[in-house]
Amino acid sequence: VGADPVMLDLADVMVESAVGVMPVPLGVATGVLIDGRTVDVPLAVEEPSVVAALSYAGRLLRAGGGIHTWASDPVMTAQVFVSQAGRRGIEVLESRRDEIASVVDSRLGSLVARGGGFRDLDILALPRTGLLRLHLHVDVRDAMGANVLNTATEALRSHLEEWTGGRVLMCILSNSARRRSAGAEFAVPLTSLRAEGLGRRELAERIVLASDLAQEDADRAVTHNKGIMNGISSLALATGNDTRAVEAAAHAWAARDGLYRGLSQYRLEGEELSGRLEMPLPVATVGGAVSVHPAARLALAVLGHPNATELSRIAVAVGLVQNFAALRALVSEGIQKGHMHHHAARLAFQVGARGAEIQRVVEGLTAAGTYSLDAAGLLLSRERQEHRG
Ligand code: NAD
Repeated sequence: VGADPVMLDLADVMVESAVGVMPVPLGVATGVLIDGRTVDVPLAVEEPSVVAALSYAGRLLRAGGGIHTWASDPVMTAQVFVSQAGRRGIEVLESRRDEIASVVDSRLGSLVARGGGFRDLDILALPRTGLLRLHLHVDVRDAMGANVLNTATEALRSHLEEWTGGRVLMCILSNSARRRSAGAEFAVPLTSLRAEGLGRRELAERIVLASDLAQEDADRAVTHNKGIMNGISSLALATGNDTRAVEAAAHAWAARDGLYRGLSQYRLEGEELSGRLEMPLPVATVGGAVSVHPAARLALAVLGHPNATELSRIAVAVGLVQNFAALRALVSEGIQKGHMHHHAARLAFQVGARGAEIQRVVEGLTAAGTYSLDAAGLLLSRERQEHRG
């Protein structure tokens, strides 16, 4: 695949041994009403139906006033582990709390100037390894915070060793991001719900049952949450964010009480169906790839230049709407129906159809109800013969 030379230069400054770039489709889901504002959501994703499902479900939820969101301050946690810190290690470090805070803040000048910086410290002795674990909670403002925190905590290394007489094993951000969360909820009147072959109340009851199921059955919960991440990870990728960090935080949170559960929950009360999702959301609008990738800058412009907290609120709303779309389809007509159209289009592309030919091959495959490369090839050669004739 050919690539713009600027993108090749960019790839080279982003990773080592770059040999090219991997284009992923960038779609825009339209008309999602979040906190009273209609948001167009850029999604970078290779999976069919994600963009369409978000637009569709976003429109359904407008009837109830759309999605309401909230978020914590953007606080990330760095971990420092100290070995051989001695029995008085915790006491010694507790007494140096202010010095620890000022070493961290001295490395975070620009963050402190922006209202961020050190917030809190907790120290724990881990019984099995005997390591002392320091958790440094830092407001990273609009950054994801990994490099920032890793640098700041490295600066603590020699001080901690001197004060405790121990050795620092490592200093690294924790991807659990427990203190950086965002939440979203909606409530829609049953009158705005619809699905083929189901009454509105029955549809809502089946969505609630599917939500309860994801609280009970871990294997179902994984897929439930994967549907949420279809929206969130695609938005994260479109905006140049670290998708692995966002995913790791989400799945760790889903298993926080020992049983892996669905991240969202639904309720039916009177004539209203409501949905709710709250989870860690470590997304950034500066730093990492976000600041250098032109597609990420464009995606943030489409979103109206949010700061990181605003982006996390959009992301959690997107996750909830995406989840609602998947549940609605799963408990009614199923998700295969929409997928077959995309499958047919990919078969057409694979056999060489281009431009308007793709749609004609898709129509032929759909009419015959046969989805195979052979059938697509046959339809394409007929289509070309007719065109020549
Ligand atoms: P970064 O290193 O680019 O730092 C952000 C920079 O932006 C800082 O210099 C900060 O001063 C500046 N800045 C400007 N305006 C700001 C604002 N409004 N708010 C906050 N900072 C502002 O980025 P980062 O977020 O520290 O690190 C993210 C990168 O680290 C990602 O690429 C991630 O993949 C990578 N990483 C992740 C891990 C992990 O997840 N465990 C580990 C190592 C590296």
